[in-house]
Amino acid sequence: MRYISTRGGIEPVSFLDAVMMGLATDGGLLLPEQLPKIDEAMVNKWKSLPYQYLAGEVFGLFIDDISDLDLEGLVEKSYARFSHPQVTPITKRGDVYIMELFHGPTLAFKDVALQFLGNLFEYELGRRDSCMNIVGATSGDTGSAAIAGVRGKERINIFILHPDGRTSPIQALQMTTVLDPNVFNIAVSGTFDDAQAVVKDIFNDISFKEKYHLGAVNSINWARVLAQVVYYVYAYLRLRRQGFDSVNFSVPTGNFGDIFAGYVAKSLLPDGAINKLILATNTNDILARFVNKGDYSRGEVVSTASPSMDIQVASNFERYLYYLRDEDSSLVVKDMEAFSASGSVDLSAFQERVAGDFVSRSVSEEETLDTIKEYYTEHSYLLDPHTAIGVKAAEGLGERDRPTVCLATAHPAKFGQAVKSAIGSEPPLPPVIAGLEGKESRCQLLAAKSDAIKEYVSKNAILCDA
Ligand SMILES: *Cc1c(COP(=O)(O)O)cnc(C)c1O
Repeated sequence: MRYISTRGGIEPVSFLDAVMMGLATDGGLLLPEQLPKIDEAMVNKWKSLPYQYLAGEVFGLFIDDISDLDLEGLVEKSYARFSHPQVTPITKRGDVYIMELFHGPTLAFKDVALQFLGNLFEYELGRRDSCMNIVGATSGDTGSAAIAGVRGKERINIFILHPDGRTSPIQALQMTTVLDPNVFNIAVSGTFDDAQAVVKDIFNDISFKEKYHLGAVNSINWARVLAQVVYYVYAYLRLRRQGFDSVNFSVPTGNFGDIFAGYVAKSLLPDGAINKLILATNTNDILARFVNKGDYSRGEVVSTASPSMDIQVASNFERYLYYLRDEDSSLVVKDMEAFSASGSVDLSAFQERVAGDFVSRSVSEEETLDTIKEYYTEHSYLLDPHTAIGVKAAEGLGERDRPTVCLATAHPAKFGQAVKSAIGSEPPLPPVIAGLEGKESRCQLLAAKSDAIKEYVSKNAILCDA
């Protein structure tokens, strides 16, 4: 399988080249040249596979530059640190099925993709006899999952900037208590936007970027999307075994990465296997406005109890746009130019088509907390605020013969404050985070200035062209 750019400006590349490239060099996003198909015979053959074996099969459809044996090893290693034998187990509560994606090392669904990405980087850097310095900014979840994905790996150093004092205490500890010598936490004075602006600035310095072999781990990397496709297929096959042949998925959405993986799974599986993808947003509702009105226009970002969804420009949206535009890159380029010039693009002509794939709902803060409370009192189950938004958005959409699977994207203990506002007490801490308080930690406080950060990175970078 080869990969092309949504903007049409690159020669097709192999899977590993796509992974190492991250963002396409023409500014677009990478996608497979064609989307493969899983037919009924494959569904029957794969129906009872454990998660890791299924992952190997799904990856095999998209990857032809890693041997089967090596791929098996990479998958095995990537899911060995999940605490549940099924990796992404499913439980029925009330009217919905909940798929728990938070059994990885940092208790958020980003581990599913970032454990795999870290192993892919290590593998390919070994083959190329090269190295990489990862630089990224985080408001919480991505940073800790990225660090957990590459800690202790050879040929990779990672520098993660977080806004000092503005992540949750647990999120900060999940990053700063990792003491592996290749991990560098930087607390910057300022907001997440300040941190992100500095990272952007550093990546725009091409000679610095090349000299230090800078790499990114943001959600536009194709390997992250691909890793997430697996659990949609897995959930579908599990429900097939229970006699259902069509399901809906409800997805708490920010950057459109997770739900785009659902869209890929929908195209892979036989027609109708995935009926609707429910795009759940918090009050930052650009994507809900897109689905419901064809209006894709930027709004002000407001902070909510579900911070990982406080996003107004969804970095993976361009991938879906490419399919809406019938794979015509020149139209995608026009849309993206219009959006960056005016902050809005009118896609209302596609509403009917979009409605074939998605339904969407924006969920208020009050509804989020009420849903946490309802599930706790009526179903003895604690939802984190992100998951609660997905559950609320799915309300009333399930049918007797077509269940809805809600993706649980974070463990409730990661967002203890919000849970406390909903039910009056904080959830018990699972052992992996209960032990963090009082542990030794390491973190450098720096100004949110590119020069200061560059100096720190250059002093601590792993050098690739010795
Ligand atoms: C990142 C994240 C999301 C949003 O996922 P996208 O792929 O950005 O749409 C939802 N919930 C949690 C807990 C997250 O960390």
